[in-house]
Amino acid sequence: MTKLPDRRGRFGIYGGKFAPETLMAPIEELEHVYFTTGTSKQFRKELDCYLKNYAGRPTSLYYAESFSKEIGCRVYLKREDLAFTGAHKINNTIGQVLLAKKMGKTRVIAETGAGQHGVATATAAALFKLECEIYMGELDMQRQSLNVYRMRLLGAKVNCVKSGSRTLKDAINEALRDWISNFKTTHYVIGSVVGFHPFPVMVRDFQSVIGKETRRQILRAEKRLPDYLVACVGGGSNSIGLFHPFYKDKSVKFIGVEAAGKGLDTDYHSATLCKGNPGILHGSFSYVLQDKYGQIHPTHSVSAGLDYPGTGPEHSFYKDAGRAEYYGVTDQQVLNAFHVLSEKEGIIPALESAHALAYLLENRSRFNPDDIVIVCLSGRGDKDVNEVARIEGVQL
Ligand SMILES: *Cc1c(COP(=O)(O)O)cnc(C)c1O
Repeated sequence: MTKLPDRRGRFGIYGGKFAPETLMAPIEELEHVYFTTGTSKQFRKELDCYLKNYAGRPTSLYYAESFSKEIGCRVYLKREDLAFTGAHKINNTIGQVLLAKKMGKTRVIAETGAGQHGVATATAAALFKLECEIYMGELDMQRQSLNVYRMRLLGAKVNCVKSGSRTLKDAINEALRDWISNFKTTHYVIGSVVGFHPFPVMVRDFQSVIGKETRRQILRAEKRLPDYLVACVGGGSNSIGLFHPFYKDKSVKFIGVEAAGKGLDTDYHSATLCKGNPGILHGSFSYVLQDKYGQIHPTHSVSAGLDYPGTGPEHSFYKDAGRAEYYGVTDQQVLNAFHVLSEKEGIIPALESAHALAYLLENRSRFNPDDIVIVCLSGRGDKDVNEVARIEGVQL
C-alpha cells in the first residue's frame, strides 16, 4: 500500500492544493518546514514535552461501567475532555504554534466555531509569546460568549465576522484574507484536518497522539485491539486522530458521527459525508454540502463545533474506500446523550462529543456484550451548559 497522502497531498482523488496564486508561496514554505523541521525527532521531542507537562497528556482511557451497561457492550472513553483547555484542539495548536515560532513568525491567526480552537490557539500563542488574532462568526460569538472572553483574557484579539451565515465557514474566509495580506509575519493555524495540503496531514499527525495513546492503553487494559472506534466528525480532526493509528488493523471498525441537526431529510444539518458530494471548499477537494450549482449550503447544528459544510479529504477517502462508516444523529438525540452521560458517569460531555455517544444510544442492538467500543470524548461540556439551559427553557 502506498503512503497517504501522496507527495501532492492527495488521499486517492481527494485533498490537494486548490489555493489562490498569492498563497502558493506561504503554503510551499509551510510544506517544506513541516516535512523537514516539523517531522524531525528533535521537534517531536520538544512537542511531546509540552504535551506532557503543559497540556496534561496522556489523557486517560476510562472504562465507563454504567454507560456500558446502558449500551450492552464494553465502552471506553478516550478522555480528551481532560486535556488542557478542555478539548483535543490543544494537541494541534501547540504543534502548529511551536512550528510557527521555528519558522520565525511573530503572529498567528485562526478561525473558530465553538471557540475551542480559538481558545487553544490563544493559549499556545501566550505560551510561545506570539501575537494572536482570532476570526469568529457573529452568531458563534453569541452562542459561545464565555470562550470569546477567555480568548481576550489570554491576550488575543477577537474579530467578529458578519458575512454569510456568520459561522465557521465565514470565519475561515476572513482568516484566509488576512493570511494573504500578512503571510510574511503570520502563520494561519487551521483548526481541523481541512484546507490545502499540508494542513490535513499536519493536523492529522498532531492529533494522532490520541490514537497512539489509545492503542497502548487498550492493549494494556484488555490485551487486545478494540472492535469499534467511534468519534464525532466536524472537520474531522479528533476522529482522524483516533482512527489513523489503527488504519491497518482491518478488524477495528471506524464509525464517524455527523450532525444531522433537525434531520437528514431537512435543510438543517451539517452531515457532509452522509449527504454531501465531492467539491472544492477552502482549498481542497473533498465532500462538501452544496447545491446543484456548486454553491455552499447553509448548515445547522446544535453544536457550533460541528456546524461546517465541509470535511477532511482523508475522511472522504475512507468513506469511498469503505474503511469508515458515517452516520448522522439529530440535535434531539444529542441532547439526550448529553444528559445520559452526565447522569450515568458524572461527566458532562461537549455537545460535539455527545454526537458519538448518541450513536451508541440509538444503535444498541448493533453491539455484542463482549465488543470493545472506544468513544472519543473530544471535549468537556462546560462551554455548552448555558446553551443547553437556553434550549431547554431553564432559567439560570
Ligand atoms: C472542534 C471540536 C470538534 C469538531 O472538530 P473535529 O475537527 O471534527 O474534531 C469536536 N469536539 C470538540 C469538543 C471540539 O471542540
